[in-house]
Amino acid sequence: MTLTIYNSKTKRKEKFVAQEDKKVKIYVCGPTVYDVPHIGHGRSYVFFDVVRRYLEFLGYNVTFLTNFTDIEDSIVKRAHELGKEPMRLAEEMIEAFLNEMDKLGVKRANLYPRVTEHIKDIIKMAQRLIELGYAYVVDGEVFFDVQKAGGYGLLIDRPVEEIVAREVEGKPITPPLGRHGPYDFTLWRRTRSGDPSWDSPWGKGRPGWHIECSAMATKYLGPSIDIQGGGLDLIFPHHESSSLICQVLYDRPFAKYYLHNGFITVGDQKMSKSLGNFVTLREVLKKYDDQVVRFFLLGKQYRAPLEYSDEEMTKAELDLRRIQSAIKITVKTAAPKPSRRVGSKEKHSLKECPDAEKNLVDKLGDARNRFIEAMNDDFNTEEAIRILLRVSEYIEEFTQTCKRFRSAEAGQQAKAICKQFNDVMGVCRKL
Ligand SMILES: [Zn+2]
Repeated sequence: MTLTIYNSKTKRKEKFVAQEDKKVKIYVCGPTVYDVPHIGHGRSYVFFDVVRRYLEFLGYNVTFLTNFTDIEDSIVKRAHELGKEPMRLAEEMIEAFLNEMDKLGVKRANLYPRVTEHIKDIIKMAQRLIELGYAYVVDGEVFFDVQKAGGYGLLIDRPVEEIVAREVEGKPITPPLGRHGPYDFTLWRRTRSGDPSWDSPWGKGRPGWHIECSAMATKYLGPSIDIQGGGLDLIFPHHESSSLICQVLYDRPFAKYYLHNGFITVGDQKMSKSLGNFVTLREVLKKYDDQVVRFFLLGKQYRAPLEYSDEEMTKAELDLRRIQSAIKITVKTAAPKPSRRVGSKEKHSLKECPDAEKNLVDKLGDARNRFIEAMNDDFNTEEAIRILLRVSEYIEEFTQTCKRFRSAEAGQQAKAICKQFNDVMGVCRKL
């Protein structure tokens, strides 16, 4: 049984082989902190939390980084609307993000690098790209030369013209003024006076989005990592562009595996701000228990769309309560109590218990194997949850006959298996 992962780069499932024995480096793109996180953020970070937990369960030593884009047009715009300092707004939104991810049981990253704390690294990287001929300066701004770098195509499997065509409604794409090519992107931009800016060899300004992740990821994780993660919408242009930067600088692929989670839908529509069907995590967490939200977010295979509705949430709640109570009963009754006098009614059931216990432990062992099989199949949490529901049935049947474990060995085995399920899924916090 080996772990296979769907790699967005090759568009197929591949056997997972870490670059370094038993060590895994993961970089998951963090939010641009201009607003409170929405439920789509929740799905992404809960899923990558399970990726991390499962790799740890398999015995890997995982280094996990998530950045914060704490300076961007959207932050400056929103801060102006609110009459706040952009840096103050970013700080508040980072706090909100961490707070809500804590509620969802997402383990803290080993590091949360922030763009504003890495301006020097980003400038240095842009300078190096200019020296190597992959970037050029136009009027105080620095652009990456996509054509010189070999063009796009690391992650996208269609011509970039096709992807961008939708946005320009079929109009011919001409390079913006001063740029060499139509897809050349900004590494350093001039800023309007009054907006947050930093000194650079090209004048006051701030970095472009893609180079930020290239600079922060390679600074802490080295020139190549095992897994880059994020939502589907990050494949292009963000991951494509930041990976291209790293590739030309270090002459090797940036990430070995690219994982991208699907969107959340409402009805048949993708949840988005512009459609007004947008739900913040804060709202969802007010309405439902933290662990129910986490459980719901893991209810579908991560690449498939996930439908958000009250019915789906209610179903998730019922399923989770069932799993939680079964796991809790097992853990609570696992340590056998000292023998005591039993009434005649109980004598009968006691006789059946050794068999029932053995039967349960066998079934749980088998479920554990199926659970690992499901998770090895591209982290199929949907199937893993189905298995946990079966596990609850086994435990319910057992407790109807036996109430609790009589044999320490069987009890401890069952308890260990339940704990393993929970270590990976993180759905039963009070264990
Ligand atoms: Zn990123």
